[in-house]
Amino acid sequence: MPEIEPGNTESLEILINKNNYILLNNLAQKNKPLESCAILAGKRNNNHFIVTKIIPMENDEKSNIKFTINEEKLFKAYKKIESLNLSVVGIYHTHPSNPIPSKTDLKYMEINPVPWIINSTITGKSKCFIYIDSSGIEEMELKVMD
Ligand SMILES: [Zn+2]
Repeated sequence: MPEIEPGNTESLEILINKNNYILLNNLAQKNKPLESCAILAGKRNNNHFIVTKIIPMENDEKSNIKFTINEEKLFKAYKKIESLNLSVVGIYHTHPSNPIPSKTDLKYMEINPVPWIINSTITGKSKCFIYIDSSGIEEMELKVMD
């Protein structure tokens, strides 16, 4: 996956259709107060990340402050995405607080420089961020399409 060019983040956006967005919200509400997570698969077109498939993942931590995905299950999810001829275009997880990346999130965002959608199970609001370079992360636009 090509890197995001620093300074060229103006039009960074992630697009998700309404049905998939509702699916994510239902996942978040069902599991709360535990953190839930999902892999977002789809296509990338330059700075546009288009989500076409949601793969809900189990939070191995059974925690309301962090999430970990079992490596074997993650591997299976990636294989499935590959077999569908899609790419990983995002990672979704929830917080029982503000939808702002935690210190741990920041560490993993650097290793996985795809859009990270964080949903607050308190307000129901989601925000999306991506790791750009050592200067930090950028918030990107999350567009829900009909
Ligand atoms: Zn987090």
